[in-house]
Amino acid sequence: MSGDEELPADPVVDSQSGSGRADVVVIGAGPAGSTAAERLARGGASVVLLEKDHAAGETTVCGGAMPFFLRDKLALERGVVDRIIYTNRVGTLARNTDLRFDTPNNLSVRRELFDAALAEKARAAGARMLARTLATGLEMDPVAVRARNRDSGAELVIPCRLIVFADGPHTLAQAALGIGFRRAPGNHAVALEWDLEAPGNDLQSLEFYFELDALPLGYYWVFPKKDILNVGLGTMEPTSARELAPLLSAFIDSHPALRGRPISRKRGGLIPLRPARRVAKWPGLVVGDAGGFVNPMTGAGLTYAIWSGEVAARTCLRALATPRREKQIVAAYRRELRRTPHALFLAVTRAVARAACFASRFRLGRYALALAPALVEALVRGVWVAQKYRPRSF
Ligand SMILES: Cc1cc2nc3c(=O)[nH]c(=O)nc-3n(C[C@H](O)[C@H](O)[C@H](O)COP(=O)(O)OP(=O)(O)OC[C@H]3O[C@@H](n4cnc5c(N)ncnc54)[C@H](O)[C@@H]3O)c2cc1C
Repeated sequence: MSGDEELPADPVVDSQSGSGRADVVVIGAGPAGSTAAERLARGGASVVLLEKDHAAGETTVCGGAMPFFLRDKLALERGVVDRIIYTNRVGTLARNTDLRFDTPNNLSVRRELFDAALAEKARAAGARMLARTLATGLEMDPVAVRARNRDSGAELVIPCRLIVFADGPHTLAQAALGIGFRRAPGNHAVALEWDLEAPGNDLQSLEFYFELDALPLGYYWVFPKKDILNVGLGTMEPTSARELAPLLSAFIDSHPALRGRPISRKRGGLIPLRPARRVAKWPGLVVGDAGGFVNPMTGAGLTYAIWSGEVAARTCLRALATPRREKQIVAAYRRELRRTPHALFLAVTRAVARAACFASRFRLGRYALALAPALVEALVRGVWVAQKYRPRSF
């Protein structure tokens, strides 16, 4: 990367000693981090990608549904995509509507395969991934990321020029730089996702159920995958994963396609529903859940993880190429995000989500429910429009 000094084409960071340096350290090999790392490496930057687990996606909590356009955008191989979806079922268990589209509108994946595929693309582009390496802090003078190898216990210090925080909603960026998502009342949802064994299942639709009596500020879902039905719920009510488990059990018992199936995995987590107040402060930028970039109507974050990862990578490449303006370019990251249609789409969905919460608090949820099929259709079409629009700046 051109800059103040000549840096090696490949980062030379030893995972035990931490010797060597990089243009950019990316913390977290989820979709946001791997996308940023891949784009940075392809743009000529030397990149170190830190992942706390053995492999990307190993402990991730996610239903694994995403818009279909991501298959082509990310050039996903056949084995990574479990199911291509044309139909969304929306309503209650007792009364629902099938919205069928002429072209595929969604797909489902298992995150361990999806995240591993994206991390491999980053590695193939030249990023150096250090697995089982937990980022623990920052040093500012000179800039470096501190990390620990979780197997050997070895402490690493990786000097770099910029840092992309892609470490999810509990991001280190908050403590290190005061940027990124921070959990507060009303700005997140709590969600559970369980895998039910369903060998050879041929369910073809994504199902969304709004059972207002049991779950006034959230919804249940069923996402079919290869040999699995992923079932979950998310809510904005202040609650814990433990309190939600009986609700999900009761839902499974009342759904004819789910009842009695063995549960092979149970996970729960937090979903940010509002973008962070600050998303960049030199030398750091936040992407994906770390920036709170999630559709607040659905809790879906994969599209926005990839989008923000791309915009952050472009911002970093520009900053690296212009050392004298590095700080200003990093500070303009939010402006770069706002120049894209996904930002506008998120703002619109935030307004709709607020209206739905308002309706629910005043027991008008039934009217909102009547609008649910139209809203789901608008969401699907809105994602199509947003992803077809070319951003002006890049
Ligand atoms: C129950 C549930 C269901 C969901 N279902 C869907 C869905 O169906 N579709 C959808 O679009 N979205 C869904 N989401 C949201 C989606 O999972 C997130 O928006 C998405 O994973 C964000 O990607 P990310 O790359 O920002 O973060 P993550 O996917 O969380 O990746 C962060 C990575 O950073 C690593 N990491 C964390 N801290 C450190 C550290 N200190 N050092 C090194 N590595 C670190 C983690 O191990 C992880 O690999 C769901 C969320 C929940 C909780």
